[in-house]
Amino acid sequence: MSTLEIKNLHVRIEDKEILKGVNLVINTNEIHAIMGPNGTGKSTLSAAIMGNPSYEVTEGEILFDGQNVLELEVDERARLGLFLAMQYPSEIPGITNAEFMRAAINSKRAEDDKISVMDFLKKLDQNMELLNMKEEMAERYLNEGFSGGEKKRNEILQLLMMEPTFAILDEIDSGLDIDALKVVSKGVNAMRGDKFGALIITHYQRLLDYITPDVVHIMMEGRVVLTGDAELAKRLEKEGYAKIAEELGIEY
Ligand code: ADP
Ligand code: MG
Ligand code: MG
Repeated sequence: MSTLEIKNLHVRIEDKEILKGVNLVINTNEIHAIMGPNGTGKSTLSAAIMGNPSYEVTEGEILFDGQNVLELEVDERARLGLFLAMQYPSEIPGITNAEFMRAAINSKRAEDDKISVMDFLKKLDQNMELLNMKEEMAERYLNEGFSGGEKKRNEILQLLMMEPTFAILDEIDSGLDIDALKVVSKGVNAMRGDKFGALIITHYQRLLDYITPDVVHIMMEGRVVLTGDAELAKRLEKEGYAKIAEELGIEY
């Protein structure tokens, strides 16, 4: 079992404190969801976990099996087994999707343990079939000209190919139609198991109808203010954030 532990995390962008002491413990074999109003710091949390240099950690710790992640560069965090699917994936012209994924897989492996082209293509084929992706998507330049839905599907393809220990999926459901949502959920559910844990950031219960979370957190004003099980997300859908904020005595 692996553990990703976030302790009293404070993060600042420019002069503004965005995260004001976030605490979270995610184990493999668990899927956590974070829900919260816009601008509450959810994407900031994922950026800080992955090491985006625009986000300054002023206090607190992020530990992966006890190892201090904050001391590592972005690529070192990825090699350790962290994966971030971004709200807005970037386009990388000049490198094909397949080349990118093969390089990413190999960067995690020792010199004498690189994945063979045959094994890679076999695995790519299987995963693209699972996600109902057109074969040509593999040979296109990374995210260039991909539609919103194709980008999200592609993020899940990367997840299946790279097999990280922990994945953070930031609004992977935004802009997806119901069929794409089902496909994306199928991909995430395929990863479930004792070698994988995830943190899913979403606004909507809809995604959680397909990916049942083990733990649900509500984030407001830069903190996790309430934690529960899958029922909490359903309650939120019915009652909205304002009611929960009022109950907790939070200005919102
Ligand atoms: P969420 O994902 O919960 O909607 P974000 O983490 O994106 O929230 O943003 C939290 C706050 O930080 C917002 O007030 C937002 O305007 C601010 N913020 C986010 N990114 C930046 C940035 N690069 N520069 C300045 N402010 C930012
Ligand atoms: Mg947002
Ligand atoms: Mg966001």
